[in-house]
Amino acid sequence: MTQKKPIIGITPSHNTENNDTSLRPTYPKAIAAAGGLPILLPLECSDEDIKQFMDVCDGFLFTGGPDINPFLFGEDTHLKCGNISAARDHLEFRLLSAAMDAGKPIFGICRGVQVLNVGLGGSLYQDIPSQTEREFPIAHQQPFYYNIPCHRVNIVPNTLLASICQDETQIAVNSSHHQCVHIPAPGLVVSAVAPDGIIEAVEKPDYPNFFLGVQWHPEYLWDRDEAAMGLFQAFVDACK
Ligand code: MN
Repeated sequence: MTQKKPIIGITPSHNTENNDTSLRPTYPKAIAAAGGLPILLPLECSDEDIKQFMDVCDGFLFTGGPDINPFLFGEDTHLKCGNISAARDHLEFRLLSAAMDAGKPIFGICRGVQVLNVGLGGSLYQDIPSQTEREFPIAHQQPFYYNIPCHRVNIVPNTLLASICQDETQIAVNSSHHQCVHIPAPGLVVSAVAPDGIIEAVEKPDYPNFFLGVQWHPEYLWDRDEAAMGLFQAFVDACK
């Protein structure tokens, strides 16, 4: 008899113009490659539904997407803030809270790391180019396709991320974000920083399970990059 695969709940993309939900296949492919069984969560979930998904799912992946409503971290909307999805905010912050109460493995990608940070009380830069001064401004919105890395990140030693990257001190990543973690939430530890000072990963060492968010997109790199595959593997293994 084959062992049952861990079920990974994945948060949906939301097109706010026509209200469609969708999911880029890169996410479920990466989860499946790591041995998980991916399912797409609905955008609209009652609190009861979310509770039941805690029984159904062994872990949760918070995916990339639009900007987070700045009110959720106590700021007015910056001139350069982009589109938001109130529906995704509503789903994901309740889902994060429920998943943490249940002690489930949690993995955030791009918008996902921002959800983890804001959900725990941290803040974001609403627009990196206009809110930060950097001697060498890295293109965090990379000008070429995402299966090619565009900047490096320095990995903080003795972190979950460092162990996943087999104690490499630096890896190359792709980048498609104009927002990022500004002030890390209480209890979160920064585990990767770009050479221009932009925070690229956070984790929660006192969480009883896998809890990691990365600002880059390993779902575009897992089939060609050991560190990217390692992230999905470590997450899915934690869900077993
Ligand atoms: Mn970046």
